[in-house]
Amino acid sequence: MAADTSRSIKAVCVVHNETSTGVTSRVADVRRAIDAAGHPALLLVDTISSLGSIDYRHDEWGVDVTVAGSQKGLMLPPGLSFNAVSAKALDASRTAALPKSFWDWKPIIEANKNGFFPYTPATNLLYGLEESLRMLEAEGLPAVFARHARHAEATRAAVRAWGLEVLCADEREYSGSLTAVLMPEGHDADKVREIILERFDMSLGTGLGRLAGRVFRIGHLGHFNDLTLAGTLAGVQMGLQLAGTPIDPVGLNAALDVLRRG
Ligand SMILES: *Cc1c(COP(=O)(O)O)cnc(C)c1O
Repeated sequence: MAADTSRSIKAVCVVHNETSTGVTSRVADVRRAIDAAGHPALLLVDTISSLGSIDYRHDEWGVDVTVAGSQKGLMLPPGLSFNAVSAKALDASRTAALPKSFWDWKPIIEANKNGFFPYTPATNLLYGLEESLRMLEAEGLPAVFARHARHAEATRAAVRAWGLEVLCADEREYSGSLTAVLMPEGHDADKVREIILERFDMSLGTGLGRLAGRVFRIGHLGHFNDLTLAGTLAGVQMGLQLAGTPIDPVGLNAALDVLRRG
């Protein structure tokens, strides 16, 4: 950012919870780095797989645009998206020369002033959202975040006891939403996923890009409790064994030890 003396960089885009690797970015530090360089770029953050699962602070962290969706931690079908927009980002959008229609904020902001939408909203999803927000509030956000962090910890305990590696190398960036697991050299993650899908009807995330075949991903976000996680990890352990992966089959017990502690 400091090297960009002509200020040609308009925005820094960050994914809060990186869903393909299980890494949670330190967004507040990114803001501090931009500010330390004295750069006016906007900070845009994707929180699709973190909102409602991992602590996130749009205002406190000085984020300009936060984008979220209904389909992950908010426990809804896909179809809704939410934008939180700072005054600075709103000003930038007013003068931006980028042609836009579908992505234009103006019509929805205008219509929302009177409680309306410029187009037909996904009404049934909004009723669903009302209910999922009620659920999150009833549990309390700190408890929701702690539940996800604890399930992530139990999952990592299982992975390590199996003798496998968690892909995320920095413990400050462990994801509460999902854990990506690195397979031993010469063993195909997609084969394990296929066996688990066929035998136990459980779908695990695949490795993307460079990680294809190297990792599989265990999701533990949203409407998820201790026994859901225990069942998930039991399926993963059996799948790894059925695929002939060299693991120590004590991973599930290691996870149960974490869960039993409460
Ligand atoms: C799931 C996910 C998306 C995908 O959202 P779409 O609505 O399918 O575009 C984007 N970003 C992150 C971080 C996600 O986890």
